[in-house]
Amino acid sequence: MRPQLIDNLGRRISYLRLAVTDRCNLHCRYCQSATSRLDARRKLLSYEELIRLTRILVAMGISKVRITGGEPFVRNGLLDLLRYLRALPGIQQLALTTNGTLAGPHLDVLRKISLDGLNISLDTLSPQRFLEITGKDHFAKVMAFIHDAPGIIKAGAPIKINTVVQDGVNTDELLELAQLAENLPAQVRFIELMPFNGAQGFEATDWGIDRLRGYFAKNLPRMTEVVMPEATTAQVFRVRGFRGTLGFIGGYSRSFCRQCNKIRITPQGMLKTCLYDDGVLDLKELLRSGVNDEVVESQIRQCLSHRQPNGFVAAALLHRGQQPCSMASIGG
Ligand code: SF4
Repeated sequence: MRPQLIDNLGRRISYLRLAVTDRCNLHCRYCQSATSRLDARRKLLSYEELIRLTRILVAMGISKVRITGGEPFVRNGLLDLLRYLRALPGIQQLALTTNGTLAGPHLDVLRKISLDGLNISLDTLSPQRFLEITGKDHFAKVMAFIHDAPGIIKAGAPIKINTVVQDGVNTDELLELAQLAENLPAQVRFIELMPFNGAQGFEATDWGIDRLRGYFAKNLPRMTEVVMPEATTAQVFRVRGFRGTLGFIGGYSRSFCRQCNKIRITPQGMLKTCLYDDGVLDLKELLRSGVNDEVVESQIRQCLSHRQPNGFVAAALLHRGQQPCSMASIGG
């Protein structure tokens, strides 16, 4: 019988988002502002530490591991880590989130690793707008990787194209982006803008999940909702005639906290029991203090016995005026 990790509110924790770096070769303005602070390389968890923590958490009940960043391919040794985790007993799903600009040369290795899920960021279908949003001219590489993706992951495993909805930036091409799901076996997901760009004064846009769903229901009338497993973050819709699906993620509305099944480890080794908290346990410090795995496990359990009910409460506990982190330093 697999061990189960249950928090103080009875939610089963089975999903670890493991960020391997806070560095990225792109500079998306909703993720990293000019003032975003990035820690010196030496402050990142080593691969040995990443592996030790994953082993401990899998033994506690984690069954899905997603590798995130920054951009994971920026860090040397990523493929070795993926190979190691692929072989680690207890990981039922191994997934990766990438911006798709650096993955192209590694298709053969990725095919052998056979991921259970792949998320690729894409906010626009215009090369010029891509340059404006990300600061880099890598649109063609991302599109090439999106089209190669079905051939490199486990058959039938989900490919998800993540689009951050930015009012007045890409809101004039949402239907075109959705159209990618017509011919691709992918889920095109529209994500609410979230307050993680490392700067003060975040303003929520009015392109929230309700408006997004309404907009598509009006413009894509053949859309029907798909019943998804309980802890699924996205609201998913099938469109008649489309190979793929559409998804809507209320990252700012925080409409799915009651079933939240995930924890995060930041590149610097902070345990986050909610995206909106500021880290509840410095795992790197703990590991480097020389304690054994039992102590690490009991400290993590301690944190999960005091988890906040939702992202609003977690955010409200942040110190007033504290500079929010950039998404790159959290791992999404
Ligand atoms: S906001 Fe926090 S509690 Fe809610 S789903 Fe996200 S991580 Fe979980």
